[in-house]
Amino acid sequence: MGPPITRRGIMLVLSSPSGAGKTSICNRLLQQETELKLSVSATTRQRRPGEVEGKDYLFLSTIDFETRINRSEFLEYAKVFGHYYGTPSKPVESSLNSGVDILFDIDWQGTQQMKAKAGQDLVSVFILPPSIKELEKRLFNRAQDTSDVVAQRMSKSAGEMSHYSEYDYVVINYDLDKSVQQVQSILNAERSRRERQNGLVQFVKHLSSQL
Ligand code: 5GP
Repeated sequence: MGPPITRRGIMLVLSSPSGAGKTSICNRLLQQETELKLSVSATTRQRRPGEVEGKDYLFLSTIDFETRINRSEFLEYAKVFGHYYGTPSKPVESSLNSGVDILFDIDWQGTQQMKAKAGQDLVSVFILPPSIKELEKRLFNRAQDTSDVVAQRMSKSAGEMSHYSEYDYVVINYDLDKSVQQVQSILNAERSRRERQNGLVQFVKHLSSQL
């Protein structure tokens, strides 16, 4: 065996308009990929039934959120549907340094901020719904938001969708299993990128020395 190869973690960002199936894709990925951890965002929006504090989100008051903004505790933050959403920076750097990949379920505003800071570490994927009918159906089936909230989210979809062109990869979510496989293929290819693998020079030197 040659000298060890270590790898810096990847920041895998998934964005989509609400209802495109991104959360289901994220959940499947987290079940199947043991070296992938979810970045738990903070938000000032109401907790939905079934959501767990500290697992789905850190639910904060607006004052608490703004205090943390002033202390520069977020890697990025944005206002979405009138509420703050942000990524606490502390857990991210330690995961990256120990070679653990992190999954971010954030919107296009957060992705833009993150891109500016993270550079090569960031891999971004945009999920599109197969049709507007399907998007609407998924939003209604979720049935956790009032019809006002659903209407608000639908009307924002066109604006959100127009940001697909800022992403590295685009997946059209025709079928959950296939979409998960597609994102896994992206992740695996990105993990093999030469620039992410530390120790290759020594490894190849070691191989050559045995010829
Ligand atoms: P939801 O309220 O449905 O959980 O999320 C609404 C939107 O906020 C989604 O598009 C989601 O990707 C985005 N979001 C969730 N967490 C963050 C975050 O930490 N930062 C940013 N910029 N967007 C987020």
